[in-house]
Amino acid sequence: MEEKKLFSCLKEYFGYDSFRPLQKKIIDSVFEGKDNLVIMPTGGGKSICFQLPAILLPKITLVISPLIALMKDQVDGLVANGIPAAFLNSSQTAAEQQEIFQHIDDNQLKLLYVAPESLQVIDRFLSDGKVSLIAIDEAHCISSWGHDFRPAYTQLGYLKNRFPTTPLIALTATADKATRKDICDQLNIPAAKKHIASFDRKNLSLEVRPGTKRLEQILQFLEPRKNESGIIYCLSRKNTEDVTSKLKANGFKAEAYHAGLSHKERTKIQDNFINDKKQIICATIAFGMGIDKSNIRWVIHYNMPKNLEGYYQEIGRSGRDGLPSDTILFHSYADVVMLQKFAETSGNSGVQLAKLERMKQYSEALTCRRKILLSYFGELKQEDCGNCDICRNPPVFFDGTLIAQKALSCIYRLKGEEPITTVIDVLRGAQNESVLEKNYQALKTYGVGKEISWHNWQQYIIQLINLGFVEIAFHKHNRLQLTAFAKDVLFDGGKLQLAKNPDLKEIREKEVKSVRKKDNSLFEQLRQLRLKLAKEEGIPAYLIFNDATLKEMEKERPMTDEDFIEINGVGRKKMQDYGYQFIKEIIAFNKEKRVTKKVTRGNTHKITLEFYNEGLSVEEIAQKRGLSGTTIYSHLAKLYADGEKIDLNKFVSKADLLAVKKAKIELEYTEALKPYYEHFEEAIDYWTIRLALTILEKEE
Ligand code: ADP
Ligand code: ZN
Repeated sequence: MEEKKLFSCLKEYFGYDSFRPLQKKIIDSVFEGKDNLVIMPTGGGKSICFQLPAILLPKITLVISPLIALMKDQVDGLVANGIPAAFLNSSQTAAEQQEIFQHIDDNQLKLLYVAPESLQVIDRFLSDGKVSLIAIDEAHCISSWGHDFRPAYTQLGYLKNRFPTTPLIALTATADKATRKDICDQLNIPAAKKHIASFDRKNLSLEVRPGTKRLEQILQFLEPRKNESGIIYCLSRKNTEDVTSKLKANGFKAEAYHAGLSHKERTKIQDNFINDKKQIICATIAFGMGIDKSNIRWVIHYNMPKNLEGYYQEIGRSGRDGLPSDTILFHSYADVVMLQKFAETSGNSGVQLAKLERMKQYSEALTCRRKILLSYFGELKQEDCGNCDICRNPPVFFDGTLIAQKALSCIYRLKGEEPITTVIDVLRGAQNESVLEKNYQALKTYGVGKEISWHNWQQYIIQLINLGFVEIAFHKHNRLQLTAFAKDVLFDGGKLQLAKNPDLKEIREKEVKSVRKKDNSLFEQLRQLRLKLAKEEGIPAYLIFNDATLKEMEKERPMTDEDFIEINGVGRKKMQDYGYQFIKEIIAFNKEKRVTKKVTRGNTHKITLEFYNEGLSVEEIAQKRGLSGTTIYSHLAKLYADGEKIDLNKFVSKADLLAVKKAKIELEYTEALKPYYEHFEEAIDYWTIRLALTILEKEE
């Protein structure tokens, strides 16, 4: 396939100027007719790898996808970009399916999404040569090694027999080798080209915080993020409900999601979240699989996940649009203890415990967290990431020998029979029951650590555990006990370094200040407009434009069609459908704020005006300026709205003007162009509608 064609298709239909890493290579390989296996993290941009070829290939592309909800979103997204697509699954009536079969026969569809259970239905319509490409999304579902095994996926092996000459592309975000091999084996594509992208998601910030006063911390975190979507993962149903009610009491649109709800209730909650009607979901781990929502701005783990795979997958649901997104993991020993118990009673406790150990090491790390995380997935990085809490506030080490001696000797004198809480109480000279009952106030170490706060002691002792001087006896009520290494520090003059505990309050305050207040920004207004349009059309807001695209509009402030289509994420269809309104919003915002745009292209209207005043026709102006006719019309509309003497009536017939006027009432004064275009069954073109609306608006 010609290079030029690929890029113009990428811009025309998806609005992007360049490919993400690997996308181009994968697409080239598809056009060479090869089978391909694509491993890319969530948000990496897998869809374009088969959607773009689908547009350019002569026949239909079949997409096997496991989730009905996901399917509908993807198809809505494609249609919004002007790509003919449909889906087939068991939720449809026979009549609905019949209509789709008709479209297939008429060669009107470019992509057809099918649930694996419904594949047989289309079998009789498709023979080899009628299908250009087969894409298998979430391909790890085929493997019982993977974490979302779906029995219906195991039948997919027959596709290669059924369509031997059709290239196949399997895509997944699951990285491990066993699953990869299993996918190729089962799909009968042993020679598939493998494309493995980096799993680094640079836009996700990583942070681990001590799990004290979690709700307070969450509310503080949310303070400057009043409108952003996010997920809070909890271990228990009760936690999800508690956190939800607390958030609601503070004015947030939050909802709990857990296995105790009916399927119907859960679907509704998920839909409300996707459509931005609910802002925050407090969920047990089951939430989020297959959610394509690109504007999830943060993920919080209220409890520690049981392994790094789950953790990475869950934080990966934020920031799919590539914009900065925040993740926080709360770390508490109570969670570790509970997870330990779960793991011990599970089937293969050895593996589970080892995985939990890695999770713990990550949470307690004193070096770049991303390096640790990526190394777990087999990717070794030289550089620190700069976007984790450790990189942002690197630990400062000091001679911790004295502190260590106090703690170790306290544990020694308690004979290794007390958990961390009592050890700290004794060190700090607390006068509570657990201390006085056992006469611990008589110990030599009682009160030797008064000057150090409870929280700081906890952090130091955790460091001592990580350094191997102390261990937790999980089977004996989590008592702290000394290891053989402790002797060196306690009795033989050994020295050691501890990391200073960061001043959390100071760090938090700095962070809150750095997050800009967003309420009055143009971005916020564009977001509201997007929400309004999405509601009118009954599709999720992010399918209209994603956050990254709105951000670019905010920065570039396009005021003409030609500037608007330059924005990343604006393809031709979306410009026609939504450009007018977004441009209007931007112009209005600038007027209100009296922002004089950096007038680089502001002159373009003037030039058009001059030619117009010289009496040139639209075609002549377009030709002279090397611009399209529609662009010139958009200039004229803008000039007219600004009060210049332009006779727009010259370009719109009386009949059309009247029709638009009538439609405006019928369509309840909507300003979106698309409803008009569809109302007139495409008989009146976009720019005529647009000019007519401009005239009518002036009249009002
Ligand atoms: P995945 O399926 O791998 O999780 P998607 O295909 O849903 O990821 O893409 C994630 C986001 O990245 C989407 O919002 C998509 O529009 C955007 N995207 C994909 N390719 C590009 C590109 N070449 N340039 C800019 N954005 C892109
Ligand atoms: Zn880092």
